[in-house]
Amino acid sequence: MKQLSNKMLEMKASSVRKLTKHADAAEAMGKKIYRLNIGQPDLKVPMEYYDRISAFREPTVEYMPSQGIPELLEAVETYYRSAGINVDRKHIYITTGGTEAIQFTLLALTNPGDEILIFEPYYSNYNTFFTITGAQPVAVTTYAENGFHVERCALEEKITDKTKAIFVTNPGNPTGTVLTESEVRMIADVAKEHDLYLICDEVYREMVFDDRKITSFGYLEDIHDRLILVDSVSKRYNACGARIGVLISKNDEILELISKLCQGRLAVSTIEQHAAVGLYSTGFRVIHEIRDEFEKRRDVVYESLKKIPGVFCEKPEGAFYLICKLPVEDSNDFLVWMLKEFDDQGETVMAAPADGFYATEGLGKNEIRIAYVLETDKLKRAIEILGKGLEAYNKR
Ligand SMILES: *Cc1c(COP(=O)(O)O)cnc(C)c1O
Repeated sequence: MKQLSNKMLEMKASSVRKLTKHADAAEAMGKKIYRLNIGQPDLKVPMEYYDRISAFREPTVEYMPSQGIPELLEAVETYYRSAGINVDRKHIYITTGGTEAIQFTLLALTNPGDEILIFEPYYSNYNTFFTITGAQPVAVTTYAENGFHVERCALEEKITDKTKAIFVTNPGNPTGTVLTESEVRMIADVAKEHDLYLICDEVYREMVFDDRKITSFGYLEDIHDRLILVDSVSKRYNACGARIGVLISKNDEILELISKLCQGRLAVSTIEQHAAVGLYSTGFRVIHEIRDEFEKRRDVVYESLKKIPGVFCEKPEGAFYLICKLPVEDSNDFLVWMLKEFDDQGETVMAAPADGFYATEGLGKNEIRIAYVLETDKLKRAIEILGKGLEAYNKR
């Protein structure tokens, strides 16, 4: 048979799911696994979502306008205005998840070979869209030792005449880092001075702990012409499966290209858009409930990890992830061993090896990402098992 797409053949499989076959085998043998590898919240979606679905009784499920249904555009506009970010509905496009917004943004901004500066470790799913579009991620490394915060010189050092944009995830997945106001200002200034676009994935916008200020790039009026905001209901309302995302830009030329892409894929799910209006109707009630719950979980995970000898991480500041360093050489090997060889009273733990979140070969080898998406009791137990596992692994 003829050779398939080179691009796709070269694409790496998701590092988050890499351990799945070992986990399935362990479960088949009767082991219980605490899964901390995938960032899928376990909290309840607000009832307003189902109320809107039950109320939907149109005789035909028609295509909706490719920009999104007017009611949802209005709901998103209202949310943004309440959040203190000045956005009009004409700047908003509804997408099939934030994921499609990212894909469309890269398609609209880049030609193959254009460079995108991105802080590593970063959300590895972006690689799918770098591959599809041919945009080249250029990693700006950040470090566990200072909580994965960013520095101007490291960023500017990587700028070339091919650099098209800076891509920021704030709050960060997989790091749990919340950029400070001055970091956000610095990145915006660099973008302005070097005439770069700014792609900001803010799907965790309000998930910031310890009374931190939300530091959205949307607050900075002076960069609105070069800013593309990516957003989603997935994490904000515990509705990952709804597949409703948002792309926002105030640059008319960009919007024209985004509009073409949206027309090409016709429309986003009619019913999910109606249901998402229900999510936004909850204002900040659900958003703050979720934040408070994850802050509690963050405390439990962080305090438990601190007790394990040789484990290091700075206190995570937001989202629901952290990256920690383990006293092992190869965290992949350790995590597989935890599934295949180890259990404590029939129970073990699964996390994501962190090397998949780095673009630079060799980084993150002794790190894992933990998504703290379980209840606090289970988290406590999971981290206890992790500690016992590390001890046993290093005694072999
Ligand atoms: C979960 C996640 C997304 C995916 O959003 P969807 O709306 O579910 O497509 C995007 N960016 C980051 C950083 C995420 O963690």
